[in-house]
Amino acid sequence: MVPFEQCPVCGHEMMRKEVEKLVRGGKHTAVITVKAEVCAHCGERLYSKETISQFEQIRLRLSRQETAQFQLMGQTFKIVLSGA
Ligand SMILES: [Zn+2]
Repeated sequence: MVPFEQCPVCGHEMMRKEVEKLVRGGKHTAVITVKAEVCAHCGERLYSKETISQFEQIRLRLSRQETAQFQLMGQTFKIVLSGA
């Protein structure tokens, strides 16, 4: 279930935490609350294979507009900043 006990990027210990993951499909975005292994040092996140395949299913459903079972949270805005 747990892919790594140590961070593959920096070698520090991974901790199981609840995180928010943004998944985009077509014009839609879903905010998914999910458990992941998170590196306390560099912030690297690792998801289980099962979780990643669930992300893919959600992405597919978003792009097909199959969103009836998802809870609507609000609107998503696109803002492009031109910088200084
Ligand atoms: Zn790390």
